[in-house]
Amino acid sequence: MRLKKLGCVALTVFLLSQTWITGSCIGVTGETCTHNGVTYCTYNHHILSGGVGQYGSFRRYYWIKNSTTNDQDMSNFFRSNITEAVNKWVNTSPGYPNVTTSISFRETSTQKDAMVEFHGFNNPMSDGRTEHRKYDNIVSPSSENWGWAIIYLNPYNSSLTERGQTGLAAHEFGHAMGLTHQYSSSMQNKSIMYPYASRKMEDGTTERNGPASVDCQTINHLYG
Ligand SMILES: [Zn+2]
Ligand SMILES: [Zn+2]
Repeated sequence: MRLKKLGCVALTVFLLSQTWITGSCIGVTGETCTHNGVTYCTYNHHILSGGVGQYGSFRRYYWIKNSTTNDQDMSNFFRSNITEAVNKWVNTSPGYPNVTTSISFRETSTQKDAMVEFHGFNNPMSDGRTEHRKYDNIVSPSSENWGWAIIYLNPYNSSLTERGQTGLAAHEFGHAMGLTHQYSSSMQNKSIMYPYASRKMEDGTTERNGPASVDCQTINHLYG
């Protein structure tokens, strides 16, 4: 269930939950908890209602917006990167220790079926941001669960490499599922949620383009 309705809402508590990356990703207020030595960064343990799927048995969907009057045509930007980014989340389970929550997302051509939508936007100050939504409202994820999310990606940032574009999509997808920033400098090579474009793979040289162990463990913590 997507918790999206089309009726009017008289009173809307309009709380922004958007995030930015321009070399850095700012504006995310999250909460930190530590269990058995692992630090999890979440929106106060709130989640995507209905979960992140169960590989092989329960699938959730994402949708990529094509050209409209207000958004950029995502069919020509990011599509392969978005697919790669989501698949990196879906395919992590066997590769990381202690990962017990299997994620299942697949692209749909039917917008209303999607729990995560990818839109384009053009903002010279921002490469990506995520809005958490319930019905038609933007909600504060630290205050309540959300039914779906819109990820905005900026196709005009020419400084992003292919790996960087995939990494950006994977980072924002993490926000859509309930992960917040891993601000500690020690996480630069250890989390897709490190909020700066300088995040790296464990080897310290290759740009990170997908989730790491702590990111999957945070999914376990939220949905396990
Ligand atoms: Zn972010
Ligand atoms: Zn916790």
